[in-house]
Amino acid sequence: MNNSKIWLSSPHMGGNELKYVHEAFDANWVAPLGPNVDGFEKDLENFLKNTDVKVAVLSAGTAALHLALIQCGVQYGDEVICQSMTFSASANPIAYCGATPVFIDSEKDTWNMCPVALEEAIQDRISKGKKPKAIIVVHLYGMPAKMDEILAVAEKFEIPVIEDAAEALGSTYKGKACGTFGRFGILSFNGNKIITTSGGGALVCHNQEDKDKAVFLSTQARDNAPHYQHSHIGYNYRMSNIVAGIGRGQMEVLNDRVAARRKMHDFYTDIFKNIDGVEVFSEPANDYFSNHWLSAILVDAAKTGITREDLRLAFLEDNIESRPLWKPMHMQPVFADAPYYGVNIAENLFENGLCLPSGSNLSDNDRERINKIIQQIFS
Ligand SMILES: *Cc1c(COP(=O)(O)O)cnc(C)c1O
Repeated sequence: MNNSKIWLSSPHMGGNELKYVHEAFDANWVAPLGPNVDGFEKDLENFLKNTDVKVAVLSAGTAALHLALIQCGVQYGDEVICQSMTFSASANPIAYCGATPVFIDSEKDTWNMCPVALEEAIQDRISKGKKPKAIIVVHLYGMPAKMDEILAVAEKFEIPVIEDAAEALGSTYKGKACGTFGRFGILSFNGNKIITTSGGGALVCHNQEDKDKAVFLSTQARDNAPHYQHSHIGYNYRMSNIVAGIGRGQMEVLNDRVAARRKMHDFYTDIFKNIDGVEVFSEPANDYFSNHWLSAILVDAAKTGITREDLRLAFLEDNIESRPLWKPMHMQPVFADAPYYGVNIAENLFENGLCLPSGSNLSDNDRERINKIIQQIFS
């Protein structure tokens, strides 16, 4: 009997990662600079296929968001708009800056920021005397947000957009890579993401000056002098050359990983097409191309007689990991005082949604076990 754990999303090495790591050891580039750092940045720039993109690799996606906010001029007492339906790492850097998050509901098509609620919120914050300093939009589980609509609102009020593409490397909207639409984009290479460096992130910029500033801030903000001279607060956020070596190996297999995650989404679409009351989270139109980092479903308990929690526990019984969708930030105790604009779309998603095992390294046997549990509980 095979009852080994099936993970939601686990690291999947390609094979050449150690080659790059060994090169770093052999040349003694064991520092937050070196050929792997430069190479990984180049690889990402090429992958994003946008000639004006400049990428700075960092210690984490969270660090990239923090630097993006700083470069948008966010300061103590400011307000920053943020999608509510997301992981806490999207919102925490707002607090690092001493600013207040203003949370926005989702819309039903992409589960991402609702452009209507966004405009409402901006108008209301301005009428209360404070224009938000930035907008953080997220591409949840790899699904591109409604970027045309969101960018139109942002442009109307002249507020910079920061795209949290931590989950969306390999996703596109109207053929253009997620992470390249905003003033800044951020990526994550955390252990559970579509590719991983064990831990790491990147800031996507649109000119050399912004990238240079990010590198400067991420390496303790040293002024140009032979001694240690500082006229800014710095951070220790740069990616090491060892970690970047893992990233270079992972870039060689990124397209395969996207294909495999999308196959997992097809697998679930196929299973649930015959189960009335379960909806698989899918692209709303051809403009959207999701990497399907995580496959997710909405369970209508009234129709199926099964709650998403029933399903989660049935999986757990067979050592299969699944997880409720992100609990919206405006429902989190730590952000209880933050303003919120919208209705109950995100709350309903959280109530009825479940993320399913989505790894690119799942076997046919794993899929058989997953299918068996689903058939049993919905029969
Ligand atoms: C993973 C993630 C982050 C944070 O990235 P780290 O590299 O873990 O710091 C930010 N936002 C979202 C939506 C994420 O999923």
